[in-house]
Formats: sequence, C-alpha cells, structure tokens
Amino acid sequence: MTNLTDAPFTYDTEPNPAPVPAERRAEILASPGFGKHFTDHMFLAEWTPEAGWHDARLAPYGPLSVDPATAVLHYAQEIFEGLKAYAHEDGSIWAFRPDENAARMQRSAHRLALPELPTDWFLGSIEALVQADRGWVPSGGETSLYLRPFMFASEVFLGVRPSQHVTYCVIASPAGAYFSGGVKPVNIWLSREYGRAGSGGTGAAKCGGNYASSLLPQQIAAEHGCEQVVFLDSGEHRYVEELGGMNLYFVHDDGTIVTPHSDSILEGITRDAIATISADLGHTVEQRRFSIDEWIDGVTSGRVTEVFACGTAAVVTPVGALRWPDGEAVSSDGEGGKVTMAIREALIDLQYGRADDPHGWMHRIA
Ligand SMILES: *Cc1c(COP(=O)(O)O)cnc(C)c1O
Repeated sequence: MTNLTDAPFTYDTEPNPAPVPAERRAEILASPGFGKHFTDHMFLAEWTPEAGWHDARLAPYGPLSVDPATAVLHYAQEIFEGLKAYAHEDGSIWAFRPDENAARMQRSAHRLALPELPTDWFLGSIEALVQADRGWVPSGGETSLYLRPFMFASEVFLGVRPSQHVTYCVIASPAGAYFSGGVKPVNIWLSREYGRAGSGGTGAAKCGGNYASSLLPQQIAAEHGCEQVVFLDSGEHRYVEELGGMNLYFVHDDGTIVTPHSDSILEGITRDAIATISADLGHTVEQRRFSIDEWIDGVTSGRVTEVFACGTAAVVTPVGALRWPDGEAVSSDGEGGKVTMAIREALIDLQYGRADDPHGWMHRIA
C-alpha cells in the first residue's frame, strides 16, 4: 500500500498535566528493569485511505480506548519496531541507525498490508517523544530509554480485508542493563516440533503474530531450563533460522564468523552492524545456510569456538548450551568467549559515544 499523502511532518502537543513526580521517576530510573515503566508521553498518528497519515500528536501517556470489534484484536494486523535512546556523557541523546528501523517498518508494513510511514515521520515521532521525556533517559552503565513504535489496524470492522483506519503509536520505557550481574550465557532449546515462520510467511516482518506463535515453544524451553528457543527452517527442519527475538552468529576457529541466511528470519539491525564491526576487527564474515548438524558437530569438534545471539534489547549475548530432548552441545563454560566479548564491547562503545563512529550510525535525537 502506498501513501496517498506524504504530508510534511508536523504535530500537536498536549503536555501531560500530571507527570510522574520527580522523586518517583528517580526511584524508577534507579532500577528500571525492562518494559515495566513508561514515560509521561506517547506519540500518535492516524491513517485513512482518504487523508493518508494525519493527526500526529504528542499526548499524555495513557490507555487507548478500543472498540471490541477493532480489527487488530481479531486478525492481528500489527507491526512494531524496537530501538534505544542512549545518553552520552555530555548529556546529548542518540539513537543507533534509526533510519534502518524506519525502513524495516516500511517493509513490515508492506507484508502486513499496512500503510508505510514516511521515514521523516518515523524519525520525527521519536525525536518529539524523547525530547519531551528526556528526563526519563537513564544514564550510566548499559542503561537506555527503550522506544517501541508500533502500528495497528484500528478500524471497527469484522470483515477480512486491510484496515481502513490505522493507528501509529510510540511509547518509551526506561531500561536497565540487560545483564545486571555481568554477561551470562543463555541456554537454548532446539525446537524441532514447532516452527516460527514458513516460506512466504511473515518471518521477515516484525509483527506481533510471529511472537504469539513463539510463546508455546518458549514455554517448553523454560521447562527444560532454557531461556531461549532456536527455530529451524520449516521445509527441511535442518537449517538454523534464529531465536524468538534474536539473530545468531557462529565464531569459527579460523576467525570466520557465520550468520544464517534465510528468507524467513527477521534481519536484525544489530546483526547487520555486527557484520561490519567484525569485518573492521579483521574477521571474515559469511552469511549462508547453516545446518543444525554444523552447529552440533562444530561445537563438538572445536571448529565452532563461540556462539552468540544479538538484538537491540540484549545487544550481544553468549550462548551456552544447545539442548534437545536427549542431549546437549555446550559452547561456553560460564562466560562469553573472547571474540563475542570484543564485538560486544566495540558495539556498546559506539552506541554510548565512547568510540568513533566511522560508519555514521549514530543519530542525535535530543
Ligand atoms: C527485532 C528482532 C530481532 C533483532 O533485531 P534488531 O534490529 O537487532 O533489534 C531478531 N529477531 C526477531 C524475530 C526480531 O523480532
């Protein structure tokens, strides 16, 4: 679906008359956790076929009123993004490659038959929200303000067709360091029974439905002491795809690092950045099909020396054991490997403004 109007980005502001008191906010920022507390404002915009994108506004954070027949509640026509605002030492606030999030949201919108939000609207909405709520950006350690732009079918109609009313919203939530007690490897459950995405499906789109289908296998993983699930391709059940919400990398003994190629994975911006950073650090980077046997045999033979997962929320996370009903393959004994940790450090230093930004990835938002 194309935009009928690419109106210039302007918005109205309705300040929150009752913001969270400063002492309470300080309390929250001292221990924010993840996704539990939200800032004083949210950003909204509406779309209809006649008017295109319109009614952009910064409003007090609060419940949305939804009719029980709102389309998204029935047919899951919904997409989202996730990115972080980082406070630098001089007090300025930055986002990491937000234009990539804008472009990915447009690709997700296309797949879900939702209208594409112009990039200047996406960037403008994030800047408006972070500037209004800049007092909510935590500083120190690996803290950030997590931004969650999303878009959903808001037409009140039970027929099955693309919604004729779409709502875009951005909310923000202070986030503590993902690993509070030092980086710890996650264990991964191999799901052979359940897939995440099929060929031609929505695996490459960032939509809520993909997460809904990952929850049962995730629950099974937890029963086996695993924090995450790895999904295989839906055709041959042989090639590694990704975790429920993170991409994978395999470090080899010759310094080559491999990330799986597939048309049904969500192509992470972190994954893409790591390919560049690793090349900068002297690694050969390959994107190719990578079978589950190559993982298990590689870890067993020592050909694969480290495995790590990556995504905006957890940045870079070492993988410990890969488990299945009658076995396991362990690739990390309690802490992250050298290559994993060097890549993690390089990425984090860049995001927090402690390293040069040779690729122009950081975008000042406040
Ligand atoms: C968001 C997401 C990722 C990670 O993408 P980043 O842009 O690196 O945050 C990986 N897999 C899935 C399924 C995702 O939804």
